[in-house]
Amino acid sequence: MADSQGTSSASLNRLSVYLRCLHELLEEGFETVSSKDFADRFHLTSAQIRKDLAQFGDFGIRGVGYEIAGLAERLHRLLGLDTKHRLVIVGMGNLGSALAGYVGFNDDSFEVVAGIDVNPSKIGRTLGGLTVRHVRELGAVVEQSGIEIGVLTVPAAAAVESYEALVSAGIRSVLNFAPVHLTKRECVELKNVDFRIHLEEASFLLQSLPTTLEEAD
Ligand code: NAD
Repeated sequence: MADSQGTSSASLNRLSVYLRCLHELLEEGFETVSSKDFADRFHLTSAQIRKDLAQFGDFGIRGVGYEIAGLAERLHRLLGLDTKHRLVIVGMGNLGSALAGYVGFNDDSFEVVAGIDVNPSKIGRTLGGLTVRHVRELGAVVEQSGIEIGVLTVPAAAAVESYEALVSAGIRSVLNFAPVHLTKRECVELKNVDFRIHLEEASFLLQSLPTTLEEAD
């Protein structure tokens, strides 16, 4: 699936992987890396790396490869991570509360600032470090806190209604964990996340894995 700038979701995901790998190399004290060494080290392919990076500019240095800090900085900016994005979680149940406190959702680039629910026993309580607010307050919360990203963690039956509420509240991007197909609206990015897909991939790959170490040799 390509975004509005024609960049595929897969290549954007690979940029995030490259950035993580570059940070690992920086932490180990490396300053430059050739695309072959970079690819070998992280089980990537150098042609793919060159192709992905070429979409966004000229990143390599002839005869050297990549200057790691500079490339990491450019990927960071390219991914919009130099701006802090505020998030609201709609559905403060098991998953919503866990994500609210997850470090990957709370760093220099992202911050969960609000949690929304409808269950009267949860409103006003602190869950995942947030005071849970009623869905009626969603519009005001989004506006007051400058929230751009909505995370949907409601039961399937409430997903369409909650998605509509996020769109009406002026949210620019939705990360949907509910197992429901939502119709993408113009001007609102929609990304579905489903761990089950990865579980099914693991199940498929298990079928071809050697069962003993002797078999593997
Ligand atoms: P949960 O029942 O613990 O939490 C759901 C929460 O949503 C509850 O607090 C409930 O009160 C609230 N809610 C219900 N209707 C609402 C509404 N209209 N507005 C706001 N809040 C509302 O469920 P869970 O285990 O946290 O799962 C949440 C969702 O995430 C489910 O749809 C589940 O299928 C999905 N899920 C997806 C993945 C994935 O990989 N994508 C993994 C786990 C769970």
